[in-house]
Amino acid sequence: MFQNTREFAQQLDNQDAISKYRNEFIFPKVDGKQVIYFTGNSLGLQPKRTKAYVDEIMSDWANLAVEGHFYAEKPWWDYQERFAKPLSKVVGALPSEVTVMNTLTVNLHLLMVSFYRPSGRRIKILCEEKAFPSDQYMLESQVRFRGYDPRTTIVEIRRREGEHNIRHEDILAKIDEIGDELALVLIGGVNYYTGQVFDMKAITRYAQQKGAFVGWDLAHAAGNIKLELHDWNVDFAAWCSYKYMNSGPGNVSGIFVHEMHHSDPEMPRFAGWWGHNKERRFKMEPKFDAAQGAEGWQISNLPVISLAPYLASVEMFDEVGMDALIEKRDRITSYLEFVLSEIQREVNGNFEIITPTNPSERACQLSVYLHGEGRNLFDYLMKAGVITDWREPNVIRLAPVPLYCSFEDMYEFGQVLKKGIQQLH
Ligand SMILES: *Cc1c(COP(=O)(O)O)cnc(C)c1O
Repeated sequence: MFQNTREFAQQLDNQDAISKYRNEFIFPKVDGKQVIYFTGNSLGLQPKRTKAYVDEIMSDWANLAVEGHFYAEKPWWDYQERFAKPLSKVVGALPSEVTVMNTLTVNLHLLMVSFYRPSGRRIKILCEEKAFPSDQYMLESQVRFRGYDPRTTIVEIRRREGEHNIRHEDILAKIDEIGDELALVLIGGVNYYTGQVFDMKAITRYAQQKGAFVGWDLAHAAGNIKLELHDWNVDFAAWCSYKYMNSGPGNVSGIFVHEMHHSDPEMPRFAGWWGHNKERRFKMEPKFDAAQGAEGWQISNLPVISLAPYLASVEMFDEVGMDALIEKRDRITSYLEFVLSEIQREVNGNFEIITPTNPSERACQLSVYLHGEGRNLFDYLMKAGVITDWREPNVIRLAPVPLYCSFEDMYEFGQVLKKGIQQLH
């Protein structure tokens, strides 16, 4: 079906309905040549349109100063409301179920205040083995803070001996095993290391039937996979905006809180004035009255200069639509997989894709275990203008981001890889 030739790759680019978006991004250069960028799962490229969004805030601040809160063309006091509609489409939510604030790990901590409520026997948290370190630290510190022992309170779902990915049936079995001791399930929807996509709908339903809350860390999922958070009945979720969503280094996070929790007066949370009933926010009343919806979890007034790049990005996602993005994502990821297997065959390379081969269990990322050349090959690729990332012990992660990577990039990458392996042999 596929061919490993430049002509064939170019033909795929010509058929690609969203190829023009490549020109919307700024690519770094190595030796005067635009790089092949595989690390959009770590930090997305800068869209050309973003600078104008930031400049707008800077000009409003210069020209209006404090008056900008209400009289800027995009007033600052409710700037975050511009995200509700387009962002809700990215994650499959009602507009009232999403908002933007803080950064990812901070938001997970805040959501734990609401959704980790251990009591009696029901104290345990289920997460995945080798979760992103920040998530592990967050969970451990939360558990300790509540006075429990992380070693017995946090239960990890393990991979089977010799396997790279976690089996769905093992997750369900673990939920059964913990039974009525299960307080919370919190897993990364897309594993950052292997790129494995979990069946969030089934896991959510299964754990909720046991009486647990279910939250998802969507750092590698937002802007990458089809999410239906509302319909899946997910309790809460959070994600960062700087990976697939291209909003710039360390930028703000998005959160989702399901509608079913919006009017629960018992819901514990850490409060601040920006989560207060919007109509009366500036009346400076003494008693906190939570805004309805995800906005009720906001604490401080928002970093509008940071929101600006995210808004530029969210609007771009709205233009493109997740369906078109996902269609190309699957095609370009399959093509990359094909190119890797062709090079493997041609040079007898010693590497292995550890991401699931089943398209429903993976998205944009292919993680490649370099049994042979290892770190030297990674260094060779970087010098040749192929930006990947290195994860111990011997893994490079490749994310052919559909918004700005081309099929020709995949072909070109294969040629660089081939040369690298030949030279290092
Ligand atoms: C990228 C990533 C983070 C980063 O968290 P920050 O608070 O934004 O630094 C956390 N968790 C997961 C799963 C990630 O992939």
